[in-house]
Amino acid sequence: MAEKQLEKEVAKLDVSIFEIVGPIMIGPSSSHTAGMARIGRMAKDIIGADLKRIQIALHPQIKSTFKGHETDVAIVGGLLGMREDDESIKDALKIAEKKNIDTMVSFLPSTYQNPNTVVLTVESDHGIISITGISIGGGSFKITDIDGKKVSFTGKTNYLFVNYTKKETENKIIKTLEADKALQEKQLGYGAIQTRNNYLFWLSFLNSMPGNILREIRKLDGVIDARISPPILSFGLSKQPHRPLFKSIRELMELAREQGSLFEAILKYETNRSGRTAKEIIDLMGTHLEIMQKAVDQGLKEEITLVTGLASGIDGKLLARSVENGNSISGDVLPTAISRALAVMEVNGSMGTVVAAPTAGSCGIIPGCLLTVKDKKNLSDFDVIRALIVAGGIGVTFAHAGVSFSGAVGGCQSEVGVSSALAASALVELVGGNPMQVAHAAALAIKNMLGLVCDPLGGPVEVPCIKRNAIGVANAFAAAEMALAGIKSVIPPDEVLLALKNVQSLLPSELKGSAMGGLACTPTARKFRGESNLCCVLDS
Ligand code: SF4
Repeated sequence: MAEKQLEKEVAKLDVSIFEIVGPIMIGPSSSHTAGMARIGRMAKDIIGADLKRIQIALHPQIKSTFKGHETDVAIVGGLLGMREDDESIKDALKIAEKKNIDTMVSFLPSTYQNPNTVVLTVESDHGIISITGISIGGGSFKITDIDGKKVSFTGKTNYLFVNYTKKETENKIIKTLEADKALQEKQLGYGAIQTRNNYLFWLSFLNSMPGNILREIRKLDGVIDARISPPILSFGLSKQPHRPLFKSIRELMELAREQGSLFEAILKYETNRSGRTAKEIIDLMGTHLEIMQKAVDQGLKEEITLVTGLASGIDGKLLARSVENGNSISGDVLPTAISRALAVMEVNGSMGTVVAAPTAGSCGIIPGCLLTVKDKKNLSDFDVIRALIVAGGIGVTFAHAGVSFSGAVGGCQSEVGVSSALAASALVELVGGNPMQVAHAAALAIKNMLGLVCDPLGGPVEVPCIKRNAIGVANAFAAAEMALAGIKSVIPPDEVLLALKNVQSLLPSELKGSAMGGLACTPTARKFRGESNLCCVLDS
C-alpha cells in the first residue's frame, strides 16, 4: 500500500465556524497559550510514554512575550494531558516538578520563518524525540516535523500511533489495518518515519477504530506500543476531503440566496463539513454564548487579578459605573458594550475562562457588542446564537482567503481588526440586516483596521490589548450602522480580505508582537520590562 496523505488536504479545506468563534479556553493568548497547549497535548500522544525531561525551544520573536502569555506553562500543561480550558493548566509547571519532570526554555535561531514555532525535545521512557509545532492562530496548530522528518498533523482527526523497533513491522501494521474494510473507508492518511530511537507509524482516521485492531497491532513482533489519540480540535469531520460549500464571501452570498438566509447557509456548511445536526451546532454555540455571558458577569462583578497587574483589572467596572451614573456622552449602548468588552478582556488577562473570537486577545469585542444589543432590544439567546453562527461563517471566508488570526503573524489587525469585522457582521445579522449588509459591515470594519500593529508591553495580553478591544467595539458599531443604512464598501468584501492579507505580510516583524516597536518600546514600557538594552526601532 503506497503512502497516502490526505489529511493535509482536509486541513486546508476544512474550517469550522467553531475555530472562528472558539475555542473555549483559559487566557491569555489563543496563539501562545491555547494553541501551544494543544501542541503539547498532541506531542504527548505522539510520544506515548511517561515524560522525564522537556526542553521547549521558542522563536526569538516571542522572547519578550512568552512569559506573559504563559506559553511554557501551557505547553507543559498540554504535555501533561491538560486541555486548553482546564483550569489546573495554570499550575502545570508545579505539577511537572512534583512528577520529577525537568522543564527548560530556550530559543531557536531566527532562521525559523514562523514566529509561532516551537520545537519540543522530550525525553521519555521511549527515549528522546524532537517535535516541531506551529500555532496557526485562534488556537489552531500543526505538527510539522518529528526528529527532522516532515509530517502534517492538525489534531482534527483521530490518530493511531505505533512505536516499533524493526522496519519490517510497518508492513505488518498496514496489513492488519487493510484487513478491516470498514476502517479503509475512514482513513485519511498514514505514514511512517524513523525517529532517533525507533520507528513511528501513524494513521489518521474518522469516527472510531474497532478495539480488536489495536490489540492485534500491539501483539505484532517489534511493536513497543500502540495507542489512539482522539481529535484535539473536535469539530467533527463528516467525510473524505470535499470542497466546502463556500470559500469566499461571494460564494457565501450565493448559498444564502439558495438557502433563504445567511444563517441557514452557514448551518448547512457546518452540518455538511462536520456531520453534526443543526441542533447540535446550535446547542454548541449556545455553550459558547453561556461562557461569554459568564465572562462579562465575572469581569463586571468579581475582583480580577491580572497576570502581571500591568493594567488595573477594574476598567470594565469603572466604565459601567460611569454609564450608570449618567456620565456617558454618546448614549449608553456604545460605552456599555465597551465596558463589557473590557471586562471580558480582564477575565482573559487573569487566566480566566473565555471564548476566543477569533483570538483571546480580541475576546471582548463580540460579547461586548452582541450582549449589549441583546439587552437593549430585548432579544433572545437564540437571536444571539444565530448572530454568532453568522460571525463564524464570515470568519470562515477570512480563513479561506488566507488571512492569519495571529498578532505575531499579521499584527493586531488580525485579532482586534478581524474580531471587529466579525462583530460588525454579527450586529447586522442580530438586528435583521440582509446578507449583503452583513458582508459590507465586515468589509467596512476591516478597512478601518488595516495596519493595526501588535505591540504589547512585555508580553501579557493587557496593554494595549484590553483597551484596544474598545476600538474594536466602536468600529464594529460604526461599520454596522453604515451597512444598515445602505452604505457599501467601494472595494468588494472579498478584495478587502486580500488587502488585509497583503498588509499582514507587509508589516515588519518589529510590529508583530516582538516587543521591538510601537508602545512596547516607549520609556514606560522599558521601565516595566526592566530592560535597558532593548533593541527597539525607536532607537535607530
Ligand atoms: S496588541 Fe493586539 S494582536 Fe497583539 S497581543 Fe494585544 S490584542 Fe493580540
